[in-house]
Amino acid sequence: MQQNLLETPIEYLKGVGPNRGTLLRKELGIHKYSHLLNFFPNRYIDRTRYYKINELQNNIAEVQIIGKIINVKTVEFGKNQKRLVATFVDDTGQMELVWFQGHKWIRESLKLNEMCVIFGKCTSFGNVFNMAHPEIELMTEHEQSLRSAMQPVYPSTETLANRGISNRVINKMMQQLFLETQAKFTETLPDYLTAELKLIPKNAALFYIHFPKSAEALAKAQYRLKFEELFYIQLQLITKNLIRKHKIKGHPFTKVGAYFNDFYQNHLPFELTNAQKRVIKEIRIDMGSNAQMNRLLQGDVGSGKTIVALMSMLIALDNGFQACLMAPTEILANQHFNGLTELAKELNINIKLLTGSTKIVTRRIIHEELENGSLHILIGTHALLEDKVKFQNLGLAVIDEQHRFGVEQRSKLWKKNEIPPHVLVMTATPIPRTLAMSLYGDLDISVIDELPPGRKPIQTVHRFDSNRLKVWKFIRDEIALGRQIYIVYPLIEESKSMDFKDLMDGYESISRDFPLPQYAISILHGKMKPADKEAEMKRFHDGKTNIMVATTVIEVGVNIPNASVMIIESAERFGLSQLHQLRGRVGRGAEQSYCILMTSHKLSADSKTRMETMVGTNDGFEIAEVDLKLRGPGDLMGTQQSGVLNLQIADIVRDRDILILARNYALKILKDDAPMQNTENAILRATYIELTKKKNIWNYIS
Ligand code: ADP
Ligand code: MG
Repeated sequence: MQQNLLETPIEYLKGVGPNRGTLLRKELGIHKYSHLLNFFPNRYIDRTRYYKINELQNNIAEVQIIGKIINVKTVEFGKNQKRLVATFVDDTGQMELVWFQGHKWIRESLKLNEMCVIFGKCTSFGNVFNMAHPEIELMTEHEQSLRSAMQPVYPSTETLANRGISNRVINKMMQQLFLETQAKFTETLPDYLTAELKLIPKNAALFYIHFPKSAEALAKAQYRLKFEELFYIQLQLITKNLIRKHKIKGHPFTKVGAYFNDFYQNHLPFELTNAQKRVIKEIRIDMGSNAQMNRLLQGDVGSGKTIVALMSMLIALDNGFQACLMAPTEILANQHFNGLTELAKELNINIKLLTGSTKIVTRRIIHEELENGSLHILIGTHALLEDKVKFQNLGLAVIDEQHRFGVEQRSKLWKKNEIPPHVLVMTATPIPRTLAMSLYGDLDISVIDELPPGRKPIQTVHRFDSNRLKVWKFIRDEIALGRQIYIVYPLIEESKSMDFKDLMDGYESISRDFPLPQYAISILHGKMKPADKEAEMKRFHDGKTNIMVATTVIEVGVNIPNASVMIIESAERFGLSQLHQLRGRVGRGAEQSYCILMTSHKLSADSKTRMETMVGTNDGFEIAEVDLKLRGPGDLMGTQQSGVLNLQIADIVRDRDILILARNYALKILKDDAPMQNTENAILRATYIELTKKKNIWNYIS
């Protein structure tokens, strides 16, 4: 019954009607009763307090005042501009109410000389206070309305405000909704959960979220609704993972054979860290089962993911399958190709590179060898996704730096075979635990949380542009010691041409300060041809140049151990994760490495926090947490499209404890009763089915 009532189109609610109905649909996505019910306030205001006009001060948030309107007039200003001004008085003084829009409608609705309550923000012009677009309620209505100490404020839009759908109107609609539905709503959490976690019932929560009688009641309502929201997302993500493991068959890699063992016993260039060993074991077990592996490998820059990728690929080879590794840039693909060829040189396997610049002749050979199975490992860029690239039997696809690839691209790799390959996604951008839970809750995650031994932590300092001479002296000293230097300039899409000029100006002045023949300088940017880029990289790699002036093309994965100083120009213009990525280009050899963040003196509070964070820690996960706090989840890579973060009430930064609690409960419940068939889980199952009907949470990951 109740459920059906909530399906009623919104215009049928008394006081809404077709016009307002259209507005609500268009502006707020409220189509039916249930949407309005779940349209939550985004803040609350204390409305137990009434101000007097002579108590007003600038910068008080919002106030309500009892008084009356004594006159209204239209005032012209500027060219063809009009505003409506009303004089409002109480027993202590007078002020002005101002409207810039909707004059006709407002003029008609204003009642002169009747006691009313106005509500809004005040500002002063000279001695006179005014309130723009106030909410006005006649005293008689005000006394009757269902009012609570904490006045909810609903999200709104300019159109709504201009068309008279004020917060008060929404509030009235809500009252009407609770009247018509008699405030009885279906419970959506099982008793054992509400009891164990001391959550208030759904009815009460919905009532107090819209009509809180006290701050305490409100807090309880918020907690219950946040938990519920996060809990059901987790329930869906975890269920999806279980279904995938059950349904999507993978190639079971039953054995670890000659390639792996030979490499492990005879050709490992160093002792693996414990974290690397653990992760390889997780991957091996995963690929050994009948289900397809879909694993995210997280590890800070320099933590040694490449060798993990290689050893995983060797397992594929041992089981008679091919493997591929896809990187986001040609530079990186090249570097992986060189690195892996070197590592595997004694193994007698066929590894080839395929990128946009691979010659047609070579391409043809690659296509042929792929199809006849004689090519074991293919490394490359997006070029791997072309239709012509057909593997005989692809068993494992490794994807490096995954956020650069869209979900669609990933699933394209799948389509190449009937049974999908195992997928290992490697990322060096650490994702805060809470974000990973929400975004990748359905992937399995491995973490390399340990750096190879003997690394000296990179020393990071922040310097202002005015200290450049000292920085240059430092560079000279380092070069004299045989080290190499990166100097990176921001190149950000929107202001490309200006940034490009900065880069070129920088390059020129550096060339002047570090002249030939004593110094040699490389330059690398996105406008160069791939062949030129590669040639420049090679010169730097071979130690023929001392300084590499570059844009963020070098951000991802580039590995030149002798480069020990990273200078980041206009560092305030980079985000934290980018700064951390850039810094990760140094500190790869045995020498002490440095990162110097150059900024102007003018820094925003956020920029300051970013610089302090970089100076304060080398830990990518810690940096990611700060980043998440500064920017919010919406701006972090790839999260926008996911939709998972369009949370209604919870916030994955502020509510991380609730999120963790919700995930643990979801895990526990599904472990005992994955199909949610037990009697005690009937409510769970019903709610779950209802939710999955509405929102397709499934399609955001391949
Ligand atoms: P990332 O995780 O950033 O991709 P790489 O795989 O490029 O890191 O490894 C960074 C550097 O560390 C490489 O030079 C690699 O040879 C080296 N390395 C990786 N694992 C170890 C280890 N267990 N011991 C010593 N050096 C290692
Ligand atoms: Mg790497």
